[in-house]
Amino acid sequence: MAEIWTIGKILKWTEEYFQKYNIENPRLDAEVLLGYVLNKERIFLYVHFDQPLDSEELAKFKECIKKRAMKMPVAYITGVREFMGLDFKVTEATLIPRPDTEILVETAMERLGKIAGNEAGTGKCFADLGTGSGAICLSILNYMKEIEAVTVDISPKAIAVAKENAEKFAVSDRIEFLEGDFLKPLENKGKFTAILSNPPYIPKQDILGLESDVKDFEPMGALDGGIDGLDFYRQLLVKSANYIEDGGFLAIEIGINQSQAILEMAKRNLMWGKVEVIKDLAGIDRCVVLWKK
Ligand code: SAM
Ligand code: GLN
Repeated sequence: MAEIWTIGKILKWTEEYFQKYNIENPRLDAEVLLGYVLNKERIFLYVHFDQPLDSEELAKFKECIKKRAMKMPVAYITGVREFMGLDFKVTEATLIPRPDTEILVETAMERLGKIAGNEAGTGKCFADLGTGSGAICLSILNYMKEIEAVTVDISPKAIAVAKENAEKFAVSDRIEFLEGDFLKPLENKGKFTAILSNPPYIPKQDILGLESDVKDFEPMGALDGGIDGLDFYRQLLVKSANYIEDGGFLAIEIGINQSQAILEMAKRNLMWGKVEVIKDLAGIDRCVVLWKK
């Protein structure tokens, strides 16, 4: 007779199996993947430990286990990742949105809100460079109903995913998607209240040292920031002020140890006034806001 696999038993087996493969969060990953296969919240698993899996569920779960043991990130297996309280579709064409990036989103929303509330009535439109899944621009549009956005990505596959997310969150009528190279598609688009970006910022030589989950699965074009990781910031610091209204701002996510170089660049361009540096929960400089004079 075939062995009976209950939810409790298969979770325990999978946790041990993932441990052997050095998966960082073996139990959590097992639960998230089983929840995905059964189409249930994780809490369901806890109150149904004795429920057996049928053969179809078992086969689907085995496929997930195999993929995760090969280090495929859970979000690429399930096709979703939560960010700013929203479930974003993700594929291997999009970076998996990181919790750190919520700092950029919250920083930008706070400042956009203040500008939008001023007498000049500006604050209506921002640009987000490097769309990915749409994590930054779409979560802002979801929470700020009066605001519009333009977003640029060089990857048509990423844009296709972000468009699906825009439909899902019902914000498609307030966003324009442009395929092209970073700031170039903004020419002839007028001026924005703000430009936001989480560009690729990993120094080229550091990429090989990243976890296999990241370097073997996430799009290289979303990570590689050139020799010192600062290529995209050079473009932004020199050129983006031309596309920002007076009194508007550029807000960027930055990598570890990059704030000093960025502050130096800001000093060299007379179009930037006040600069703010925002730290993440680990105390690392994570976001820089540069105000256009
Ligand atoms: N904004 C998303 C997020 O925070 O999750 C994705 C950020 S990911 C680090 C950077 C994105 O920039 C990728 O989607 C990548 O395709 C895009 N990208 C890379 N080079 C680009 C370029 N030259 N022009 C426009 N987009 C580019
Ligand atoms: N934060 C990402 C990582 O550490 C990198 C994303 C980026 O280059 N913007 O893998």
